Amino acid sequence: MALIVQKYGGTSVGSPDRIKNVAKRVAKFHAQGHQVVVVVSAMSGETNRLLALAKDLASSPDPRELDMVVSTGEQVTIGLLAMALQAIGVPAKSYTGGQVKILTDDAYTKARILNIDDAALRRDLSDGKVVIVAGFQGVDADGNITTLGRGGSDTTGVALAAALCADECQIYTDVDGVYTTDPRIVPEARKLDVITFEEMLEMASLGSKVLQIRSVEFAGKYKVKLRVLSSFEENQGEGTLITVEENKSMEQPIISGIAFNRDEAKITVQGAPDQPGIAYQILGPVAEANIDVDMIIQNSGHDGLTDFSFTVARADLDKTVGVLDRVKAVVNAQAIETDKSLCKVSIIGVGMRSHPGVAAKMFRALSEEGININMISTSEIKISVVIEEKYLELAVRVLHEVFELDSAN
Ligand code: ASP
Ligand code: MG
Repeated sequence: MALIVQKYGGTSVGSPDRIKNVAKRVAKFHAQGHQVVVVVSAMSGETNRLLALAKDLASSPDPRELDMVVSTGEQVTIGLLAMALQAIGVPAKSYTGGQVKILTDDAYTKARILNIDDAALRRDLSDGKVVIVAGFQGVDADGNITTLGRGGSDTTGVALAAALCADECQIYTDVDGVYTTDPRIVPEARKLDVITFEEMLEMASLGSKVLQIRSVEFAGKYKVKLRVLSSFEENQGEGTLITVEENKSMEQPIISGIAFNRDEAKITVQGAPDQPGIAYQILGPVAEANIDVDMIIQNSGHDGLTDFSFTVARADLDKTVGVLDRVKAVVNAQAIETDKSLCKVSIIGVGMRSHPGVAAKMFRALSEEGININMISTSEIKISVVIEEKYLELAVRVLHEVFELDSAN
């Protein structure tokens, strides 16, 4: 007998029929004698609908009230799933985040989980019940409802698995695992049987939408055995296991996956004085405005001047330019230039630690296709390039081929 946490995403609970299917799968595990905790998202599209309602009433809604509204989507699905389970004879009980007492900080719309009270859940589990918990939500020390950021139900699932010392956390979604890259771009993309936490974290941060980044961080920190599976296949197979251990028994592939992100905008501060403190003078105010900066390049100076470029999410571009207009006057720069036609493509793999020449191979492949690289950034296990968005598909396809990702490793 095992304790399993299963998380079902919005498409998996998108209609009454789909909820019945989820109930059937949960019932199967329950009948095998396992203790099952189920975390659900809102029905697909529901969170967006609720956000739009709020935006209709207020251009920037009060975050506390916004969380009050958007957390309701999950309250619907937990109740419906409990009914669906009861209808097929499985004892089930639903809980909101506040009822469990998933304690978070008070950062509305992006709260962090601080503690989970598992007493009620354990009691129900030992009584033989299936426990259903609303994803994406918690409660702060003063009893206010909070939410964990978009995609936050993944984090609820992993956090519950950690708190309950579950044997496995299964994330059921509309794909049957984690792929080498998006199959809509490369039809030869292959499902990975295993991927390391580090790689998954890079994949999630660099644009793969399979798991919320925070859930992967959580799973790594608390060593939760995490698996991504399809909720649509009868025989869902093994999905993709996200492991702490590197795969030592087999030859480790150099590259495990390719991630991409269309959401890049580049800003260049031209002709800034090339002097100590200039990076801070430019990026300090940007950070104060709560804008996330991704890649940064400072070109070598000429005539005492330098060009300083960095990227931000496209949605933050106008705000960033607003900040920089003020900075420009202070540091006496010549001009601010922006470019929205860019994207980022990244290759990821723990295998690159022990293989030299990976970057050269990537750059060569891109140059042979005539793709110009605007910016480069690297870590121990990833190389990212910023290129023109019109070359995104081509770049991903070529890299997938060059690093032989379509052949089984
Ligand atoms: N319903 C929330 C969202 O759409 C949380 C989740 O689905 O994970 O972002
Ligand atoms: Mg999701």
